[in-house]
Amino acid sequence: MLYLPQDDPEIAALVAQEESRIEHTLNLIAAESHSPRSIMEALGSIFNTKTIEGYPGKRFHAGCAFADQVEDLAIERAKKLFGAEYANVQPHSGTSANLAVYFSVLKPGDPILSMSLPHGGHLSHGHRASITSKCFNFSHYTVDGQTELIDYDEVQELAEKIRPKMIVAGASSYPRLIDYGKMSRIARSVSAYLCADMAHIAGLVAGGVIPSPVPHCDFVTFTCYKTMLGGRGGVILSRAEYGKKVNSAVFPGCQGTSPVNVLAAKAVIFKLAMSPEFANIQKKTLENAKLLAAELSALGFRIVSGGTDNHQVLVDVSSKGHDGGAAEKAMEAASLIANRNVTPRDAATPGKTSGVRLGTSGVSVRGMGGAEMTRIAGWIDRALANSGNEAVLGQIAGEVKAMTLRFPVYA
Ligand SMILES: *Cc1c(COP(=O)(O)O)cnc(C)c1O
Repeated sequence: MLYLPQDDPEIAALVAQEESRIEHTLNLIAAESHSPRSIMEALGSIFNTKTIEGYPGKRFHAGCAFADQVEDLAIERAKKLFGAEYANVQPHSGTSANLAVYFSVLKPGDPILSMSLPHGGHLSHGHRASITSKCFNFSHYTVDGQTELIDYDEVQELAEKIRPKMIVAGASSYPRLIDYGKMSRIARSVSAYLCADMAHIAGLVAGGVIPSPVPHCDFVTFTCYKTMLGGRGGVILSRAEYGKKVNSAVFPGCQGTSPVNVLAAKAVIFKLAMSPEFANIQKKTLENAKLLAAELSALGFRIVSGGTDNHQVLVDVSSKGHDGGAAEKAMEAASLIANRNVTPRDAATPGKTSGVRLGTSGVSVRGMGGAEMTRIAGWIDRALANSGNEAVLGQIAGEVKAMTLRFPVYA
């Protein structure tokens, strides 16, 4: 940094502290990862200055020649990467992408069927606190109480009862694969559109290590900052026939100008995602999640749904007498960064949070593998058993730091 320390030493110092925090702690947050430096360069580039409204070739301000090429590259690469007929790369976030999809083909008040939040769904899937629930009439499917897997029979029954105009398949906290073929058959049986929200798993899909929703869905939304390893912001993929409607729903429907620097970062990550290195990180992410789940299970923790097929491990810490919130704090004091999360079995008890959600994208980007997953599981167990004991938690933090030095994020 050349100019920030001069203009604003306080913010510059915070950036430096955050860099150190990222390097010396373990990022186990399932909704985060580590972006390549080139992403930060694109985000910090001169394109941050350019104001664009509309779409390439149809702008409302002059001077868009290079911005148009950036957006065209992002669109073309997104389509190629995911085998999609159409892409809109302008949504500011996953939530805005979902909102735009709803408004593209539905009318306010139309019924939508999506996954219940305490069972793994997302706020933007019609949670009562989200604007989505004020615009559309959501009903929710759940996971089976025993298996903690999506109950497709319930989805079919609800679909027949509610006659939704759209079904949303996708989750924030669901460590298993979604059967998009089944979801598509259910949607077609009631003439509903199918939208997959692959915000968490887009990188795994791009890397070809889990099945893609794209061939089965009318719409697919995702964000670039989770397993996708890119900058922030959302993307909508769809069948070509809905392209025009999605474009108007995004701009001017839900948003104004689009940040060209963010579009540039999206273009960069879509290019990088076509490389064997990216696929390899995604493969390691899956392997590491399975290993971490197995290690924690061997230490006596109950793993929600019994394991994982993606980058997430949802640990029911109440199985060893802990609370999710206290676990998150104890882990943070030990430099193990994750988030408390409800488990499906908490759904009936408002305020109860028995889970910690772990993700293996960040540690896999750093090159960690089986030996490190074993140590991480051991540290988590020790941190939880010593919740509130600053000496032990500090000791673990020291051991974590020693390991992070061998696996730098940014060498
Ligand atoms: C993370 C996530 C989003 C992204 O939402 P933001 O608006 O970018 O915070 C959307 N849907 C799901 C299922 C998610 O997990």
